[in-house]
Amino acid sequence: MNGYRCKACGKTYAYKRLRCARCGGSDFEEYELTGGTLITYTVLWATPKGIERSPLVLGIVKFDDGTMALGQIREYRELKAGIKVRPEQGILRESGGQPLYGYYFVETA
Ligand SMILES: [Zn+2]
Repeated sequence: MNGYRCKACGKTYAYKRLRCARCGGSDFEEYELTGGTLITYTVLWATPKGIERSPLVLGIVKFDDGTMALGQIREYRELKAGIKVRPEQGILRESGGQPLYGYYFVETA
């Protein structure tokens, strides 16, 4: 999973953006985000259209370099804050009969 580091101030993001929220810079370098820790999560039993998976777990992950990301949490042994996770690429949901791909998180072995 790509991370994006502002070349002007060094702030990092898990998602591409046009401007740095800290300094307004617009020049980013990509780097690899590999693993992190589940900080908190919520469990949704009423899932949005296009998501068959129930319950849907959404969590906030803090990567080892401090970068934060929001994403689906899947394939865990015991769901709790503090477990180590890593991003995996796959289908996030269906929209208009088409799969939408992106990253979700699984517990590291
Ligand atoms: Zn910046």
